[in-house]
Amino acid sequence: MSSAAQRLDGLLRGDLEALHARSLYRVRCLVDGPQGAELLVDGRRYLNFSSNDYLGLAAHPVLREAARHALHKYGVGSGAAHLITGHTRAHAALEEELAAFVQRPRALLFSSGYMANIGLAGVLVSRGDCILEDRLNHASLLDAGLLSGARFSRYAHADPAALRERLTRPAKRTLVMTDGVFSMDGALAPLPALARTAEAAGAFLMVDDAHGVGVFGDHGRGSLEHFALGMAEVPVLMGTLGKALGTFGAFVAGSDALIESLIQRARTYIYTTAPPACLAEATRAALKLVQVESWRREHLFRLIQRFRSGAAALGLPIMDSISAIQPLLLGEARKALLISDKLREHGIFAPAIRPPTVPIGHARMRITLTAAHREEHIDRLLAALAQVIQDNS
Ligand SMILES: *Cc1c(COP(=O)(O)O)cnc(C)c1O
Repeated sequence: MSSAAQRLDGLLRGDLEALHARSLYRVRCLVDGPQGAELLVDGRRYLNFSSNDYLGLAAHPVLREAARHALHKYGVGSGAAHLITGHTRAHAALEEELAAFVQRPRALLFSSGYMANIGLAGVLVSRGDCILEDRLNHASLLDAGLLSGARFSRYAHADPAALRERLTRPAKRTLVMTDGVFSMDGALAPLPALARTAEAAGAFLMVDDAHGVGVFGDHGRGSLEHFALGMAEVPVLMGTLGKALGTFGAFVAGSDALIESLIQRARTYIYTTAPPACLAEATRAALKLVQVESWRREHLFRLIQRFRSGAAALGLPIMDSISAIQPLLLGEARKALLISDKLREHGIFAPAIRPPTVPIGHARMRITLTAAHREEHIDRLLAALAQVIQDNS
């Protein structure tokens, strides 16, 4: 007689073997030390092209100092949810500064972008309503749509005409959700056209700007600034703090009624411990740097340009992206893994991205550039890519 635990393990082992067989098994690597142009992984030093720390702030001394100072004042844990006693003056100040930054009346902190998306969809729509999403939206947005209880469907990637067709079916309320910058191909969503389409049908547009905030726009306010869109066109904006801002967490920004509704009703806001105050203080420091050190964005965009023209000259399969995310489309998961492994032999760390993160047959190397890189780093990447791709094509 096998025990329940043995029977469960038998089932799980079968599933794990199936993942292995399809080159979809994932292993975590061990990082020692901070994020930067270089990264110590599994005991070896690599040039790092895998991080979302687009402005090179994650290990910045000013952020460390802000966190250290707040650690002294507040201790480590927040001890409770925001609605109990977890909401400190540091959180309140950060919310005000984030709201001012994205030029909206209010902002609300969430513990993560994933939770912000789940929470806000649950407040904005429910049974009888409708959610429309780009097919390639981030998993957290897709999960938010599924969990909301609203009628959920996906439109063709970055295609306002496809959205328009879906908008013909009547619903009490319709929420349209899109990534501002698509996380796996780096392309900007056609936000002006999506906003017009949503507006014409009486729907509401929500933008998840996890990869746009800090990077796009003259002031780093994100994809909305890039397209000169405001609250009138995009009433709900979500941004994350764990990418260009270099810390952790997320925020939603919009009207007073939106933020109050989230405070009262967003389950992922209410039923979770507030992030530590020292994190909020580190993020306040990051937000100041984002605003005063525009050279970080300028440098990043010069590197993006350098990478794209070098890669195009080498005939590498770059995608249509002007963002810090510069993937190479390779197709089969096995090939993406092979190229990633070979690059590692050249001292370069860039992850292979496989299904289900991307569609089957669209496996890729997800190369990300940051303001911490120097031009010579880009040149070393290009030289290694030229050799590795040539040797394995
Ligand atoms: C990273 C990401 C999230 C999740 O944010 P976390 O704070 O890491 O949970 C949500 N949406 C998009 C588009 C992302 O890239």
